[in-house]
This record gives sequence, C-alpha cells and structure tokens, in this order.
Amino acid sequence: MKDVLKTPRLHVQDALGAGGHVALSPEQSHYILHVMRLKTGDVVRLFNGRDGEWRAAVGANKKRAVEAMVNERLKPQESEPNLWLCCAPLKRAHFDFMIMKATELGVARIQPVLTARAQIREVNVGRCLSIAIEAAEQSERLNVPEIKAPLTLDFLIKNWPRERLPIVCAEFGEATPIAQALQQPDIKAFSQAAVVTGPEGGFAPEELERLRQMPHALPVRLGPRILRADTAALAALACWQAHGGDWRDF
Ligand code: SAH
Repeated sequence: MKDVLKTPRLHVQDALGAGGHVALSPEQSHYILHVMRLKTGDVVRLFNGRDGEWRAAVGANKKRAVEAMVNERLKPQESEPNLWLCCAPLKRAHFDFMIMKATELGVARIQPVLTARAQIREVNVGRCLSIAIEAAEQSERLNVPEIKAPLTLDFLIKNWPRERLPIVCAEFGEATPIAQALQQPDIKAFSQAAVVTGPEGGFAPEELERLRQMPHALPVRLGPRILRADTAALAALACWQAHGGDWRDF
C-alpha cells in the first residue's frame, strides 16, 4: 500500500481501460522523466474523474509525449459529496491557497461570486483548474472540482438550485453556530450543499440579508473570531464534511 501511494498519480482526459494507451501531456512527460526520473516499464497511476484509478506503465517517449500503457484498475470510481464553494475571489496567493485546500477537502465545484465589496473581480479559470488538478493528484482524489467563471451574487441567488442547501457564512447579524446548525434534523434531507463566503471586506448588509432570505438558507457563524475569507471557507467546508459529508463514514 505504501509503495502504491508513492507512485506518481496523474489526471488525464482520455478514457481509461485495460490495454489502453494514453499520451501524457508535455508537462506530465517532463515530470515523469526528469523530475521523478522514471524509466520505461515503471509504474504510474492515472485517473480521469470517470473510470476510477488505474495502474499504467511508462511506455515509449514520442516527441516529448510519454505514452502510458494502462493495465489494471486499482480503484473504482466512487461518488463524492455534492458540495460547492461559492466564494468571492481573493488576492492571488489567498485564492490559490483556497482552491488547493478546498480541493483537498473534497469540494465538487468552486463558483467565484462577485459581491459589492470584492476588490478582485477577475478569475483566471485555467490557472485555477491546474491548481485544483495538482491538489487532486496529490490528495488521492478520483476527480477534479469544476472551476466556474465568476457570477454576480444577484445572478447566483436568482438561479439558486432549490435542492441545494445554502450554508451562508455570516460574520455579523443573526446566525447559528455552525455545528449546531448542521445538526438540525431537516438539514439531513439535503445531499447537496454549498458554502457561501464573502470577500475580505465582508458582505454588504443588504447582500447578507438577501442571502438569508433564500429558501432553506442556513446562516452560520464560525466561532467568535473574524476569519480571513480563505480560512472561513475552508473551516466551513470541513464542518460540512464532518457533519453531512464523507468524513462521517469511509
Ligand atoms: N471585513 C469583515 C470580515 C470579512 S471576513 C469585517 O472586518 O467584519 C470574510 C468572509 O469570511 C465573510 O464575509 C464571511 O463569509 C466569512 N467569515 C469570516 N469570519 C466569520 C465568522 N466568524 N463567522 C461566519 N463567517 C465568517
């Protein structure tokens, strides 16, 4: 088991099945050959978010693209908690950190949301996705979260999917301590949830009010201290995973 965990793990787009060949990207090929120093026949693990995790052997190196020969399935694809993070974009270092850690915590979608006090209003989705892919590769996840283009808070609220529980992180005003809120019996009926967090400047009072008015909205408080936006998002995701997600039994 230990040795398997040390084997490089790569996310690929192609279908995975016994006997298949997958061309690794130039970056992955460089990593395999020059960082990990693997040789033909050495083992790598591949996953694509659909077919589980597969053992593959390093094959020929064709024009800077290493071919991997897929042989045996190591893990079947399993469903993961349907948990979103709807968060205001943050300054680069904080946003990168949040994406990496939210991926480790098992978030299924990251939806950047533009709020009144958000100083950052643009998100490089491709860059964020590569951070999420790397975090998924390292954390033994079988899929990669979706990273969406930013939406306004107004649009998000108007188009909110009714079957998804909005867990609104409210740093002021009426809110229930998160552990208590997530233990309420009617919460257990929701298999889909979303943690909603504001920007560094916080939500404007009218924004928080609109979030509170959403059907089934769960305004929660994360303790007596004001947390940085990235800390708040990660803390709330961890609480959901512990109470309603995949930390309960695995
Ligand atoms: N500038 C604000 C703080 C914003 S913190 C102020 O000084 O009052 C950024 C975001 O993190 C908030 O919008 C909220 O969603 C979340 N957050 C931070 N601390 C929190 C807490 N104790 N409880 C709930 N949410 C919190």
